[in-house]
Amino acid sequence: MSKIDLKTESRRYRERYLEMPTIPLQSGITYGPVRSRRLGWSLGLNISPISYKFCSFNCVYCQYGGTTICTIKTSDWREDFPALDDFEKALESALHKPKDNEIDNITFSGNGEPTLHPQFEELVDIAKKLQRKYFPEAKLGVLSNSSTVAMEKVRRALAKLDFRIMKLDTGGPETFRKINRPCPGVDYEAILNGLKSLENITLQTMFIDGAISNIGEQEVSEWMEKVGEIKPVKAQIYSLHRPTATTSLGEVSAEKLEEIAAQTEEATGVTVEVIVASSPYRRRYNEPYRK
Ligand code: SF4
Repeated sequence: MSKIDLKTESRRYRERYLEMPTIPLQSGITYGPVRSRRLGWSLGLNISPISYKFCSFNCVYCQYGGTTICTIKTSDWREDFPALDDFEKALESALHKPKDNEIDNITFSGNGEPTLHPQFEELVDIAKKLQRKYFPEAKLGVLSNSSTVAMEKVRRALAKLDFRIMKLDTGGPETFRKINRPCPGVDYEAILNGLKSLENITLQTMFIDGAISNIGEQEVSEWMEKVGEIKPVKAQIYSLHRPTATTSLGEVSAEKLEEIAAQTEEATGVTVEVIVASSPYRRRYNEPYRK
């Protein structure tokens, strides 16, 4: 049983943050396989609560809308997260399908930040066991917002994965607060230090324009500096292509992303991949949203 009145909380967040429709939350533990811009055919693993959005960030661009419970401390909500045996059953059933199902990657992602699950490490162990049994050629990984990267248990779990795609949208704490709107207890410097000491990671960065932006000269230069310090295997940069939690945000053009990529590669030696996808949701800054 949930500890909050979800209807009231959802309405409150909707009133505060949502000005246009966003995509619905994933309703189960697995979803897909979906064709992803970055991951090919990816089976998604949603290990967040399913009836509301639980995350340590409340990003202005989140495709799921405003965060209902924004926290890094999960103990009060433990019973709302999927149990280990439910996770195992759901994943086994998704993988035990006819072999014409293509799966390149199995990815922890879902309705919020997956590493917030109180038993994330145990879930990684279960997923690894099943991936080896059913799809040994597939890779197991995570899309994370990096907020928990300093936690020992999370770091142990991350080390067991084949790939770690870690969010860093900004090069400084001020823009971080404006764009990612972290919950209390999330510290920008701790994230940076955690990322610097992780090996073999891919950075993921959303560039946005409009009322809140991270593509100004100073913001890009600070971000590049941090990329150079973290030294990821590569960085993947992209812009909006889905409805967002806040209006007045604009998509950054592919040309601008290419420019940022070229500058970053020259300044840091890190490979930068620009990810652009056509989508029915794409729109330009100030273009009215149409359903
Ligand atoms: S970290 Fe991801 S799930 Fe959480 S608010 Fe940001 S975009 Fe949404």
